[in-house]
Amino acid sequence: MALIVQKYGGTSVGSVERIQAVAQRVYKTVKAGNSLVVVVSAMGKTTDGLVKLANEISSNPNRREMDMLLSTGEQVTIALLSMALQELGQPAISMTGAQVGIVTEAEHSRARILHIETTRLTRYINAGKVVVVAGFQGTSNAGEMEITTLGRGGSDTSAVAIAAALQANFCEIYTDVPGILTTDPRLVAEAQLMDDITCDEMLELASLGAKVLHPRAVEIARNYGVPLVVRSSWTDAPGTWVTSAKPQGRSLINLEIARPVDAVEFDTDQAKVALLRVPDKPGVAARLFGEISRQKVDVDLIIQSVHEGNSNDIAFTVTTPILKRAEAVTAAIAPALRSQSNPKSDEAEVMVEHNIAKVSIAGAGMIGRPGVAAKMFATLAEAGVNIQMISTSEVKVSCVVDAAECDRAVNALRSAFEIEAGGQGAGSRGELLTPNSSLLTPHSPPPVRGVALDLNQARLAIRQLPDQPGMAAKLFGLLAQHNISVDMIIQSQRCRVIDGIPRRDIAFTVSRIDGESAKKMLTQVAAELGWSEVVLDSAIAKVSIVGAGMVGQPGVAAKMFEALAEHQINIQMIATSEIKISCVVAQEQGVKALQVIHAAFGLAGSEKFVVPA
Ligand code: ASP
Ligand code: MG
Repeated sequence: MALIVQKYGGTSVGSVERIQAVAQRVYKTVKAGNSLVVVVSAMGKTTDGLVKLANEISSNPNRREMDMLLSTGEQVTIALLSMALQELGQPAISMTGAQVGIVTEAEHSRARILHIETTRLTRYINAGKVVVVAGFQGTSNAGEMEITTLGRGGSDTSAVAIAAALQANFCEIYTDVPGILTTDPRLVAEAQLMDDITCDEMLELASLGAKVLHPRAVEIARNYGVPLVVRSSWTDAPGTWVTSAKPQGRSLINLEIARPVDAVEFDTDQAKVALLRVPDKPGVAARLFGEISRQKVDVDLIIQSVHEGNSNDIAFTVTTPILKRAEAVTAAIAPALRSQSNPKSDEAEVMVEHNIAKVSIAGAGMIGRPGVAAKMFATLAEAGVNIQMISTSEVKVSCVVDAAECDRAVNALRSAFEIEAGGQGAGSRGELLTPNSSLLTPHSPPPVRGVALDLNQARLAIRQLPDQPGMAAKLFGLLAQHNISVDMIIQSQRCRVIDGIPRRDIAFTVSRIDGESAKKMLTQVAAELGWSEVVLDSAIAKVSIVGAGMVGQPGVAAKMFEALAEHQINIQMIATSEIKISCVVAQEQGVKALQVIHAAFGLAGSEKFVVPA
């Protein structure tokens, strides 16, 4: 009936009994008339155990030898599962990544898949065999054949890539949780199971979902339109469908590296309102956006950069027709945001800019590739376009530029990222793909689908960067060269002239482990590149809400900010994309922030979710 790729994670194959239970499920699926490729992880905590062994021998083990070592874990599982199937009378054969022909880049420990041979797989499938494939591994054919691995958690990526290559009907990821939850159940016991989520939303929730589903697997599912479901190994419950729109035919060559960016989007119908120098204390964003949403003004980007002294600047964009209303609301609320005891003349100044445009690059391929944002900034710099605002999310970088420069910016970006004009944007929503469309009753997506907390970030602020084309490109180019991935990037509103040069601050977040080295590297080049201090804060947390339904719905941001204000949680930075709003708060308030936001959007279920041991 159908060709299905199933993937079983480490816990699901953690013991002989569990491997036998998996064999039973596979056997049943075959008996129901389906053909099957099964991808497996290493048993239980095998991979962790192997890493530990290596670390006992070397503090810096050779990456080639690490791949040689770690790839053995999956090899054990494929042999045992094939035997278990054969015991049931089900013909089965195990194959390593190299035997299949999962061809990857020659990058040990983090290889991306270039191509998957299907000849041998198809031959066995046609002969009625279940093919059991080792996940997480491949082979690089550049020069001599080498065993490579895809990076921790990479078996999901193997499974979805095989499903794409075989044009399987769907791919099932079996794991030890019932599917994708609205937030982390270890932090919020009332987290609820979602029936479905789009790939775009899932990618924006990477910091929440990454443990359940490797983001690269979601990226492949989205790019090739592979219907994907995450289900529990222990039950027959339906799990969570991760849906994608029907993609345009995409080549299977250079599967994971072909295009990091798949759309250049722009909007010239934008205007910016900024509120400069408001007090850096809880409740300010909530008051502003609360009032804005009561006036039914729909805001697009919202940006608050890192504070300077004890004040912040908040800026947002709206479409031009509602600019007047947005400006009026902001002007009306400004006096209330001045310090009552000792108001200064320049406090809460409202600034409006009409002729701006937003240009964005979008694409799942930018995850973990620090060079992509840098390339966007460099391209804009070469085209002589100055960047006024930057806001980033997991899969999108948006820049506000002068409207007169929009065409130039878009053309330069299209040629840099090889995007044809008029191609479908990344946000286009077509028919949702599931094997059986009746499984999903069509519904309009909720404004907020899930809430994520990331406690593993640090913030860097570069003070007084000269405000001229090319500075962001230099800064993020340097970070990319050092292989440091940047998450949120926010450029301040405040512009100050020092030594005759207008200057702004740029703040961004990186993985906490990269914080110190990034600071050191950027401090070393400060004099040469003309910025002043580099400030590192490792005690931050990032909370994000994600939902495709927030587009065109006023009030979503306000509700998030109000929930934080009510609990006296100060917002240090804000960045948004169309379907995501992220706030940086103090680390010790991270969990509380997650809980109150999750509750504010009514995501909490009555049932408590029991975290599996
Ligand atoms: N065994 C590998 C790991 O533990 C790959 C996987 O399970 O996805 O990271
Ligand atoms: Mg996993």
